[in-house]
Amino acid sequence: MLRLNTSGIGSRLGLKGDPVPCIQCDRREPGLSWGDFCTVCREDRRRKANRVAQRYAVIAALILAAWLLWKTPPTFTQRIFGAASVLLVYLIIRRAVSLIIQEYLPKELK
Ligand SMILES: [Zn+2]
Repeated sequence: MLRLNTSGIGSRLGLKGDPVPCIQCDRREPGLSWGDFCTVCREDRRRKANRVAQRYAVIAALILAAWLLWKTPPTFTQRIFGAASVLLVYLIIRRAVSLIIQEYLPKELK
């Protein structure tokens, strides 16, 4: 009789079958796909990318803030919208640049 595996134990065991080495530090970790970074390396890359991305986001937000101060009339509503857009640009640029850097950061040989 054909029985579907609905418990998930088989797939979990299949995923954790053999520990796969990280492409950067050769630490073997179960559940890792081939050519992927381990959790330690991924966290390290994420921290480095966030540091660089924060700089780009601050620069972009400052440019937008200066432009808004220069171009928009100094009314309360305009200032509120300006502050909200500066905050939004900061968050979006930081997230986008961080993801791009994490994707294209070269692996370090240790
Ligand atoms: Zn690693």
